[in-house]
Amino acid sequence: MDISQTYERVLEGIEEVCQKTGRNARDIKIIAVSKTFPVETIRQAYDAGLRVFGENKAQDFRDKAPLLPQDIEWHFIGHLQRNKIKYVVPRAELVQSVDSLKLAEALSAYAIRNDKIQPVLLEVNTSGEDSKFGTAPQDAVDLFQRIAELPGLSLKGLMTIGPFTDDAQTIRNAFRSLVKIRSELEKYIPENKLAILSMGMTHDYKIAIEEGSNMVRLGTAIFGARRR
Ligand SMILES: *Cc1c(COP(=O)(O)O)cnc(C)c1O
Repeated sequence: MDISQTYERVLEGIEEVCQKTGRNARDIKIIAVSKTFPVETIRQAYDAGLRVFGENKAQDFRDKAPLLPQDIEWHFIGHLQRNKIKYVVPRAELVQSVDSLKLAEALSAYAIRNDKIQPVLLEVNTSGEDSKFGTAPQDAVDLFQRIAELPGLSLKGLMTIGPFTDDAQTIRNAFRSLVKIRSELEKYIPENKLAILSMGMTHDYKIAIEEGSNMVRLGTAIFGARRR
């Protein structure tokens, strides 16, 4: 299958789950996760109609973006070290993976120095897996409120990576815990700062949409299996 066909399949899959749950497919934003793929492949995805891409490594993000059309919207979705902020902020429409106050403060300082307001999401580790980044769920409400006060940043919502399992109920529970954090935050935080709920990848995006996701990050479903 070429990318226009895999993309078509993704659109059908989203349409199907939206119909089932009474949601509008237009409310679900697709991030094409192009990590590990070369710019030629990303170009094919662009030609198929995709316009929003996600990378998880700061150097790749820095190196690929200038080689591709300028109207691409780039999201950074990986763990970000503070010394690599400079590779990411200049081109990032959204940094989805803010996972500590230290990182948020460093992003804030960099954005101010460079006259930018950087949109960000707080990443929450809803699966409890040690291998995953993201703040612990019990710290999320407090951390979100602190980040919301930092200048130079525009907090837009929450992101999580579902657990690494085939068990649908375990995945669903993780997504529900993120929705619960958002509900809790609604008591303190204006709605525009909670607009985005980024959850769902290739193997679990349908469950994520059923649970309220409005941003899915799809790599394999669009580009096929990664080699590294
Ligand atoms: C790799 C990655 C994805 C996409 O994974 P697929 O299973 O290939 O869809 C989504 N989000 C993050 C943060 C990733 O690192």
